[in-house]
Amino acid sequence: MPQTVERRGRPASPGLAAGPLVRLEAPRQIRTTSGDPASEQAALTAAVAEAVDAIRTLADATGGDAADILEFQVAMLEDEALTGPAYERVAAGTDAAAAWSATLAEQIAGYEAAEDDYFRARAADLRDLRDEVLRRLAGEDELALPEAAVLTGEDVTPTRFLSVDWSRGGGIALSAGSPSSHVAMLARSRGVPMVVGLGELDLSGHEAAIVDAYSGRVILSPADDHWSAYETARAAEAKRAGEEATAAHRPATTAGGERIAVMINVAEPEELDGIDPAICDGIGLVRTEFLFHRGGIPDEETQYRAYRRILEWAAPRPVVLRTLDAGGDKPIAGLTIDDESNPFLGTRGIRLCLARPDVFRVQLRALARAAVHGNARIMLPMVTVPEEIDRAAEQLDAVVAELTAEGVPHARPPLGIMVEVPAVAVVPELFRRAAFFSIGSNDLTQYTTASARDIAAVSGLNDAGHPAVIALIGRVVAAARALGIDVSLCGDMGGDPAHIPALIAAGLRSVSVAPPQVGRAKLAIATAVTP
Ligand code: PEP
Ligand code: MG
Repeated sequence: MPQTVERRGRPASPGLAAGPLVRLEAPRQIRTTSGDPASEQAALTAAVAEAVDAIRTLADATGGDAADILEFQVAMLEDEALTGPAYERVAAGTDAAAAWSATLAEQIAGYEAAEDDYFRARAADLRDLRDEVLRRLAGEDELALPEAAVLTGEDVTPTRFLSVDWSRGGGIALSAGSPSSHVAMLARSRGVPMVVGLGELDLSGHEAAIVDAYSGRVILSPADDHWSAYETARAAEAKRAGEEATAAHRPATTAGGERIAVMINVAEPEELDGIDPAICDGIGLVRTEFLFHRGGIPDEETQYRAYRRILEWAAPRPVVLRTLDAGGDKPIAGLTIDDESNPFLGTRGIRLCLARPDVFRVQLRALARAAVHGNARIMLPMVTVPEEIDRAAEQLDAVVAELTAEGVPHARPPLGIMVEVPAVAVVPELFRRAAFFSIGSNDLTQYTTASARDIAAVSGLNDAGHPAVIALIGRVVAAARALGIDVSLCGDMGGDPAHIPALIAAGLRSVSVAPPQVGRAKLAIATAVTP
């Protein structure tokens, strides 16, 4: 038995898993070429068609977010821009497998070189399509997996992920990969533990692994004490999960019986699949910029459909749709400004929207149209001066007038603001024209402590529990109460049991958290003491 090896990567989907290691490799069999361009052309056409059929069948069988991802793959396979160069190579005498590999390699390299994390993550979809077609060209069978298998390799493809029966347990440990890949999204929504970015792994001789996707630790060939620690952690996890699931379905109340609203944060409508709306008091933050990461700036209709789906899911509960918060750590190709010396202090959030009325107005139209389908509120990110609210309100009024003139059904939702820039948190009363406040503790912390949220070296200083941050939150809550303005908090500290007592002591009675944190937050609220 080889020596135990411990590696640390990035958690991409939380949980614990252990079982036999299964290596994910590129197609194992090599196809022998026929040597005849016409036969090679026919073989490639057939393999692509078979892959399209297989992915479509999988999409029909899975539904939900997975179906969207698979439809996206089908669309890519049917796109001549992808397949055309491969057929040209075959026509010029290259064999089908080599032509397909070379064409896909070019495309994959293009995506991998992208600056944006989202586009880089799309390279995994292309690797998936490359392998699906190569397997069919080689006539290779599907890999049979043992129960609770830990899949490992460079990356895992969405089709491979979806072909696994995860109800039998198991997890994923990848040397590359990304938490923003489609597979990571799928893993989170299905509760499959996943760690990415482990670096080059020498798997020789290793037969089993433990994956701790809470901390990002992966243990190859675990020793006896690792196994017993794993069993203990699993038992604690199961107990905690049971308690959290029960708590999630109850309204949140403090030890003194005071009701606290717990809402959820989402980025895309697909995230809501499988979540029971009864666990939350609404959606406190929709990070709409993630729709803009799907490839280009979405048109009005695409945005309208996404917002409508979210509003209908939550109705009659309120939904706070935040206007595009691009920039900073969320660049969008063709929209955000490239070479800013300090993007977190640059043209991000509402600053960018006001600079790009062409983009902002499309989003406001989509939001006003979707608003008839639920209880919508619009929220502006990164507000720094009250005039930004006025300028955004003018734009909203203008699109409302446009929609009225066109006879298009719509509503004008209330317009509130994120309180995430210290200039607002210090003097919140100057922003009384906002319909509501939502404290963005992530940015408020980085700007108050002058330590960027994405620089590991200063992560110790980037502490939401800093007394200055807590004092600012208390100030905002007190001012909102005095002004009769609704106030909530949608930064990560709202779902962190370590911070919940301080938030409640600061007077906050509403938080918005990531969906998997609802139960944990409600349990922490239940033990908090209201002043
Ligand atoms: C925040 O800053 O706390 C927040 C919720 O917004 P984001 O994390 O999207 O910047
Ligand atoms: Mg923010």
